Amino acid sequence: MTLASHYQSSRCAISFELFPPKTESGIEAMLNNVERLRSFDPAFFTCTYGAGGSTQDSTLDVVEKVKKLTGLPVASHLTCVGSTVDQLAAFLQEAHRRGVDYLVALRGDPPKGSAQFEAVEGGLRYANELVAMIRENFNHFGIAVAGYPEVHQEAVDAKTDLDNLKRKVDAGADVIITQLFYDNADFYRFRDDCVAAGITVPIIPGVLPVTNFKQAERIAAMCKAAIPKSLAESMNQNDDADYQFNVGVEHARLQTIDLISNQVPGIHYYVLNKSEAAEKLLDGLELAAH
Ligand code: FAD
Repeated sequence: MTLASHYQSSRCAISFELFPPKTESGIEAMLNNVERLRSFDPAFFTCTYGAGGSTQDSTLDVVEKVKKLTGLPVASHLTCVGSTVDQLAAFLQEAHRRGVDYLVALRGDPPKGSAQFEAVEGGLRYANELVAMIRENFNHFGIAVAGYPEVHQEAVDAKTDLDNLKRKVDAGADVIITQLFYDNADFYRFRDDCVAAGITVPIIPGVLPVTNFKQAERIAAMCKAAIPKSLAESMNQNDDADYQFNVGVEHARLQTIDLISNQVPGIHYYVLNKSEAAEKLLDGLELAAH
């Protein structure tokens, strides 16, 4: 099945994003959660690359294990950070050998402490160059790229960021998966702007069920995703862990219901290797509203 074809069905296609655990027990716990998430009939699972200091091999280990366990397609994220084109090509060859179906092709973040991304000698500067390289040499992979409803933090302005997003699509990306956001209005504005800019590939909103306020603040600062005042106020009404979990999950559930009724072809959930929040928010939801 091609990546784009998941989004042609009348059912909203869901995907779950994992990250490489650091320990054996972490891997075991993640796989248990993957099995639970499998019951929601996701289109595919993805695993991050290099984020939080993880190694490249660990990403492929995760997707290989998840594919074996679920029989579902898997996507490996891939960034340009610290790699020459030859090293990226070697990774892509290995990813193909290990059964990876799709890629989330990214530039990656600048290293901690520096505001600007610097390509290594013989490396790539922007994600559109990575997409072009994959299309030219590894055309069998489906490719997703990142989009930013609240504008990428390094972008000069929203219009330039959108032009750069279009470069990635023109280079051959099949779908756009967005950065997480808490206010659906930001996504709808972004989607309208993409359409006006001539982007025709599926645009998949990224949703993170936050489970406590401190985490929400940390992630929001990292990803430049504003927390709506109403969500901050509700979460802060009570320090109790269960209370904050329920408020965060309910917010993501309401976001999901609203997105489906606004005809999104899919939703990508940042589940952080857990299943409880996603299970609670998806429980009993009708995914076939469009
Ligand atoms: P780009 O699309 O290259 O954009 C980077 C910046 O450069 C933007 O400001 C853009 O406007 C500008 N730009 C783009 N192209 C050009 C051009 N040709 N000329 C001039 N300016 C240009 N990070 C990880 O480390 N690992 C992961 O696994 C990971 N997964 C992610 C998954 C998703 C769905 C998302 C939304 C983000 C993910 N990230 C991950 C974070 C991502 O790496 C960062 O947001 C990074 O800073 C930008 O990556 P990008 O691919 O969007 O870059």
